[in-house]
Amino acid sequence: MATGTDRLAAPATLDDIRSCVHCGICLPACPTYRALGEEMDSPRGRIYLMRAVAEGRLDVTETYTHHLDLCLGCRACETACPAGVPFGSLLETARAEIERGGRRPLRRRLLEAFIFGVFPHPHRLAIVLGLLRRYRRWGLQALVRRSGLLRRIPPLAAMDALLHDIPRTDGAPPEFLAARGRALGRVALLTGCVQRHLFADVNHDTMRLLALAGWDVVAPREQGCCGALELHGGRLDAFRARARALAATLPSDVDWIVTNAAGCGSALRDYGHWVDEDATRRVAARSRDVTELLVEADLPLGSLPLTVTYHDPCHLAHGQRVRTAPRALLGRIPDLAVVPLADSDLCCGSAGVYNVLEPEMADRLLALKIARIVETGARTVVTGNPGCLMQIARGARARGLDLELVHPVTLLARAMRWEDR
Ligand code: SF4
Ligand code: SF4
Repeated sequence: MATGTDRLAAPATLDDIRSCVHCGICLPACPTYRALGEEMDSPRGRIYLMRAVAEGRLDVTETYTHHLDLCLGCRACETACPAGVPFGSLLETARAEIERGGRRPLRRRLLEAFIFGVFPHPHRLAIVLGLLRRYRRWGLQALVRRSGLLRRIPPLAAMDALLHDIPRTDGAPPEFLAARGRALGRVALLTGCVQRHLFADVNHDTMRLLALAGWDVVAPREQGCCGALELHGGRLDAFRARARALAATLPSDVDWIVTNAAGCGSALRDYGHWVDEDATRRVAARSRDVTELLVEADLPLGSLPLTVTYHDPCHLAHGQRVRTAPRALLGRIPDLAVVPLADSDLCCGSAGVYNVLEPEMADRLLALKIARIVETGARTVVTGNPGCLMQIARGARARGLDLELVHPVTLLARAMRWEDR
């Protein structure tokens, strides 16, 4: 019979679970606990459940699965925890256990099969986005909306509402952009799956800004998915295979591997934790969010008279502990007013594909986020993750709000006096 530690997929251990001292300091930081007030939907409650399963006192039941599925994986509890409990790894390990047990309802399993069969595959994603474009253009969307089908299948409604604009793009930025002036070194850009197809302009702006900051930038065309969705979904074998493949594709002689999607950056920084090999450890050690490199540069920024507010993506603030660099960069743009956002690091409900898998809770969190944004009076929201950009834009559209959602590099690119370099 499996012992407690045998039932955990390394490297998260029973000792990690037992490092929770049940103090409850993390509870106010947890979005699902704030929404429901239920212990079992708090970090502490979920750790109790994980411990019971790991010690063989509880089976992987539907109730257990439900409480863990409702967790956003936002890792706000990790930031709050004084005991250093690695909640993200514990959750990913527990979800791997659920995956092995196959306890989810058929509808959920079918939805996950679609999501994991499409999103981490850039070519398949391009085909699906092309079909969705036609679905709009040929009036099928209006037909489906009128049919009432979306009301009966909330995940479908969530996807329909999220993908409002599907830009036509080949998705690929140039494979190389030389530094302006003397090069500080060389960096590789992770172009991302969703980012590549839906926010290609962010990749282009990232490359231009990095080149201006003095970096030779390479963006290998054949790079695959980073595996973030699979990691957070507990599909650890698939994640490990993707981590190895990506580490083999990214050049080993670069100073930094730059990400501009918080979820991808967070996964890359965890590579060495989950795949203890030279190449993956190297990727983890060299991963940096684009704002961390740009904040070191002396960019020629011109006036941008605008009032904005900044939302912290969970996987940037909690997953990578990057909070000051984006704010410092915004603070350098002349005439840009940055209004603080209350609960700026509280999840907006996007959380990878959470808003499709758990639309009800995602909507509650989105409503809270939109209310906070409205309080600021800002008409532009800045945030560095494609999921947050789409989720908050969707919330604004649904309420008829005139809100613009932009990535920090988009705003920087807008403010740049390109001709000055
Ligand atoms: S990861 Fe987020 S939602 Fe899950 S327990 Fe921690 S704070 Fe709560
Ligand atoms: S996870 Fe950390 S903060 Fe939360 S109850 Fe356990 S020890 Fe306390």
